[in-house]
Amino acid sequence: MVDKKALKVEEGFKEKIKEFLNLNSFNTWIKPLKIVQIDNDKITFQVPSKVHIDYIKGQYKNALDESLKSVLGVNEITIKFLIDADTDFTIVETEEVLEKIPKLKPKNKKRSNISEYKETSLNPKYTFDNFIQGNGNEKAVVSAMNVAQQIKNSQYNPLLIFGGVGLGKTHLVSAIGNYVFEEGSAENILYLTSDIFVKQIVNNIKTGKIDEYKEYLITKDLIIIDDIQFFARKEKSQEELFHIFNYIYNNNGQIVLTSDFHPNDIHQLDERLKSRFKMGLITDVRPPDLETRAAIIRLKSEEKDFKLSNDVIMFIAHNINTNVRDLEGAIVKLYFYYSNFNKEITVTKAKELLKELMVSKKSTLNISKIQDIVSEYFKIPKDLLLKKTRTQEVAQARAVAMYLCTTQLKSTTTSIGMHFGGREHSTVSHATKKIQNKLNIQDADMTNIINEILNVINLSTY
Ligand code: ADP
Ligand code: MG
Repeated sequence: MVDKKALKVEEGFKEKIKEFLNLNSFNTWIKPLKIVQIDNDKITFQVPSKVHIDYIKGQYKNALDESLKSVLGVNEITIKFLIDADTDFTIVETEEVLEKIPKLKPKNKKRSNISEYKETSLNPKYTFDNFIQGNGNEKAVVSAMNVAQQIKNSQYNPLLIFGGVGLGKTHLVSAIGNYVFEEGSAENILYLTSDIFVKQIVNNIKTGKIDEYKEYLITKDLIIIDDIQFFARKEKSQEELFHIFNYIYNNNGQIVLTSDFHPNDIHQLDERLKSRFKMGLITDVRPPDLETRAAIIRLKSEEKDFKLSNDVIMFIAHNINTNVRDLEGAIVKLYFYYSNFNKEITVTKAKELLKELMVSKKSTLNISKIQDIVSEYFKIPKDLLLKKTRTQEVAQARAVAMYLCTTQLKSTTTSIGMHFGGREHSTVSHATKKIQNKLNIQDADMTNIINEILNVINLSTY
């Protein structure tokens, strides 16, 4: 039974270990630990899950050892973990956990022998070990780990992780795949981007092989579909998608999805698909805060055996605050200089080398860029925006682009008109007003469109 001494040691230990890690990591990984037994220098912790043990052992072993030794005043320490099995309130020794956890819903899935579907494989580099947890992604990490650990009977099916570009969605969902693959807890894993998935569905409908394709899908224990925002505007395949997801779900396949936006904010996404997704867990990743950015820079440079001083790390973390892909871009740039000139990177040097990157990013937003983004968003070729085409679809996209140019840039309506195939400035003002009016009356569709495009703009520029 838990005694007073255990509680006291637990308190002291938690205070001490705070010196070694940041508050977020503490709250997620250390706070839930309970000391259930102390036997001289043997300490037994109760933890919520096996994922938890793996993570702590991997990341905080030293911090754990040092804090405990200091609190107990001993030189050696042996740590044991017990898993608090929520389901039946028993406590299971970690060593035996694999045998003791009942194997729910054995599926006896056949290995797929259909090789005609070209599968994009998981990137083995993306694991939980090299993913920095911090403010903004902790919920996503914990849910991903939960699913990874309980792949055959997870409570979160589907798991959907959404958020802006370059924030680690692909990394996290791949980490689930790699984890279950390494643990051997799932054999058949499928990772697809949504456009390939939709293509396969469309082709199989065309060739009358959709049932066969569904049978193929349910041989998988885990299906990861990346970037499902592309499901939108594929109206015909959405109904089939809905049925396919149901079929996989009913056959106990775990589905993991990523998206740039919350399903509610995906324009033209089928309502039934939305509610299907909501039956699982939807969780987001947000841009990392300063401390997390610094930790990521440290990790990414160390992976290259590239030692950066703390000053330089903080300089990058302060100045590049968009997403992780941009942080990586900055490191690559500095590394290039370092490895070619063999000179240490100082803050002054970093400033000089990255200035270009930051300035060029800042100045990238211009009329042409907005036209690119709008054309990509509506899937309308850019030159149609500039021509005289007056179909309703093109006219709307053009008006949206003009509105964004007027509100996001300092350009005059005359200059904007010129960049739209030589139109009058009054045409630009008129289009802008029309969109503004729709926003004023809170037209839901237009509000959505503008918000989504602004999101893309903000993520691709400073
Ligand atoms: P997304 O799919 O959200 O656009 P990615 O998963 O492709 O983003 O991540 C972009 C890059 O940033 C990848 O190289 C990934 O390893 C890295 N990355 C993102 N978040 C983290 C993190 N928290 N820790 C370590 N690396 C990260
Ligand atoms: Mg991605």
